Amino acid sequence: MGDKSPFSVRFWGVRGSIACPGPRTARYGGNTSSVEVRCGDRLLMFDAGTGLRYLGKSLDGARLDTDLFFTHTHFDHVCGLPFFRPLFQPQNKFRLWSGHLRGAMTLKRVLAEFMMAPLFPVPPEVFRSSLEYRDFSGGETLTPAPGVSVRTAVLNHPDGATGYRVEYGGRAVCYVTDTEHVPGAPDKNILKLIDGADLVVYDSMYTDEEYRKFVGWGHSTWQEGVRLCKLAGAKRMVVFHHDPDHDDEMLDAIAREVDKALPGSVVAHEGLVLEP
Ligand SMILES: [Zn+2]
Ligand SMILES: [Zn+2]
Repeated sequence: MGDKSPFSVRFWGVRGSIACPGPRTARYGGNTSSVEVRCGDRLLMFDAGTGLRYLGKSLDGARLDTDLFFTHTHFDHVCGLPFFRPLFQPQNKFRLWSGHLRGAMTLKRVLAEFMMAPLFPVPPEVFRSSLEYRDFSGGETLTPAPGVSVRTAVLNHPDGATGYRVEYGGRAVCYVTDTEHVPGAPDKNILKLIDGADLVVYDSMYTDEEYRKFVGWGHSTWQEGVRLCKLAGAKRMVVFHHDPDHDDEMLDAIAREVDKALPGSVVAHEGLVLEP
């Protein structure tokens, strides 16, 4: 394989926990998780943070038959969904996937409960496009389209989360957020998922120094991401799910360090497009 069919990743939201627009985050951006992956003419979307609203605007007028994968349903990863305009257009078809609920809940019910009065003015029934909910178990391999394989893995996060590996045209992109590491014990699920991958988007909420104060909060560090990539022979890492308190200056400093630690690695910012 290794052909030249277009395979790209575009970042629409790169923050963790809560959106944080403002002058101190203007360059990297303040929107929460939303990532677009293009495999030839197939569109895959990951998470529905506030960045999803902008992805929706870019798709205006398109006729969509596409997949949205949730890492999990914490608020910062779902709150953009009702503001995703293509859901209000009847010509569109969406499959919504989640693998972290383990039968305790369905994705359909979780989303209905967050879009419920008096927390939210309208229920999911306002969406006009055709919606299919697909609950799976972390670890399964999904085939959303011919030639596109999506492997999944269970992550270590409160209430669960799922990591993804998209394989297309002989290349692989991994999306691994939200997850907490155990210092000194590399996560075997993640090592298997990112084995030899071309690009790994990784939960880099903290630095190793900060992490000591946040044990148990469900997040990792860019340094752990580099360690995992090196162990797994993954080529490049993308620092992602930035702490809202990490301003542009701090992210610039991390960008210099991560490129030194694993050459070609970068810090995600809104609008960044990468090819694996
Ligand atoms: Zn998050
Ligand atoms: Zn989370």
